Amino acid sequence: MGNVAVNGVSKQYDNGYVAVKDFNLNIADGEFMVLVGPSGCGKSTMLRMIAGLEEITSGTIGIGERVVNDVLPKDRDIAMVFQNYALYPHMSVAENMAFGLKLRKFTKIEINRRVDAVAKILGLELLLKRKPKALSGGQRQRVAMGRAMVREPSVFLFDEPLSNLDAKMRVEMRKEILRLHRRISATMIYVTHDQVEAMTLGDRICVMNEGAIEQVGVPTAIFEHP
Ligand code: ADP
Ligand code: ADP
Repeated sequence: MGNVAVNGVSKQYDNGYVAVKDFNLNIADGEFMVLVGPSGCGKSTMLRMIAGLEEITSGTIGIGERVVNDVLPKDRDIAMVFQNYALYPHMSVAENMAFGLKLRKFTKIEINRRVDAVAKILGLELLLKRKPKALSGGQRQRVAMGRAMVREPSVFLFDEPLSNLDAKMRVEMRKEILRLHRRISATMIYVTHDQVEAMTLGDRICVMNEGAIEQVGVPTAIFEHP
């Protein structure tokens, strides 16, 4: 189950700065939750704590039935898509997609099965042998999504995944992410500073400011009564 329970979570960085303050949020299994707010308000810090890439100063984070505070990123039932795609430049598209599965000791047969299936869904079949530098921004973003999808996690985390794309490609990728959500019905937690993106994608939206939650609700409630 991909429900995510964030209970009283705070984050103080080593320099003393408190980036997240007493954050409480329950995200249902299969829900699309968007964290939105101005740059520097703590969205990425919150997401990275859910991913396990950032230590939690206080509070707990649960994924499914499990408190994950001390669980390594690779052992959490999540996959994350980064703004800068974070593809390995020396690996082909197929190798990039396969890497996380190899790390987790999946068999070659299973890896190939998953990579082929996801490549088909994302329209990457003809690009599998290419290196990232020979791809467009939109194609790189698809590979980054594909690398997350092959893991078949219960929870997907997205950190501003479309902000390096041009306006037209952003609209296209938004539709694609929504199609994906309908198709695989995983929980998605999506960070953006873009209100339009929040509005079009979120089942619910969590508005953050200065490390705290300002409002949580369905898009119409948030943007018609700000
Ligand atoms: P957002 O994703 O909303 O732009 P971040 O979570 O990236 O916000 O950052 C929240 C705040 O924490 C910012 O003021 C940022 O400068 C600060 N911050 C982020 N990482 C660190 C760090 N490693 N050490 C100290 N402060 C940090
Ligand atoms: P996976 O396919 O599981 O993401 P990776 O080797 O790409 O495998 O990543 C291993 C871990 O490091 C994952 O938890 C991933 O979220 C994290 N990670 C990958 N790239 C970056 C990056 N550029 N910055 C921060 N963390 C990253």
